[in-house]
Amino acid sequence: VADQLGLAVANLELREPLRNQSIRDPLTGLFNRRYLEETLEREIRRAERSRGALGIVMLDLDRFKQFNDTFGHDVGDMLLRDFGRLLQGAVRLGDVACRYGGEEFVLVLPGADSEVTRQRADRLREAVKHLFVSHRGQSVGSVTVSAGIATFPEDGTTGEALVQAADAALYRAKSDGRDRVVISE
Ligand code: GH3
Ligand code: MG
Ligand code: MG
Repeated sequence: VADQLGLAVANLELREPLRNQSIRDPLTGLFNRRYLEETLEREIRRAERSRGALGIVMLDLDRFKQFNDTFGHDVGDMLLRDFGRLLQGAVRLGDVACRYGGEEFVLVLPGADSEVTRQRADRLREAVKHLFVSHRGQSVGSVTVSAGIATFPEDGTTGEALVQAADAALYRAKSDGRDRVVISE
């Protein structure tokens, strides 16, 4: 019995890190895209039942290729890690922060309407400017970030539609000059 129990406990202990690996991005420790897709649908249904709002923010670092080309990929990685920490520090209980892909991030804010979502995205946009990564003992340049936001139910009622709307708004933020937050219309 003790052997069996020992094995069961060992299995349980193993399961947690495995589950973590499958839903987390290794560089930043944020949730990954797969987890976002699972969670977003569930959060939308929850918002629907409670007749609440839900905001999503899609963020993309500005001219990050240039940052990498100037300071090197490792320094770029450090900046991504710091940005991840910034996002993690900005989330509240129930929010979900994900690394969506390379230098793209998504924030899910259950309960947040379009105005609250915009305020929170704008606060992050300001905070990014204070991120300085050091390289060979010297502090290197900072970056800016652009963001597109979409809110349930106005801009979409599925995860896919909301992400698409936020992405279209992000595209406009880029073409309007970057370092700004654009609301889906
Ligand atoms: P834009 O302002 O239009 O977003 O320009 P950009 O240069 O940020 O956009 P683009 O999509 O052309 O380049 C994204 C760059 O992000 C390319 C790649 O060098 C960098 N990148 C993506 N993933 C990683 C990563 O894991 N580590 C590092 N260091 N860089 C990454
Ligand atoms: Mg990008
Ligand atoms: Mg970019």
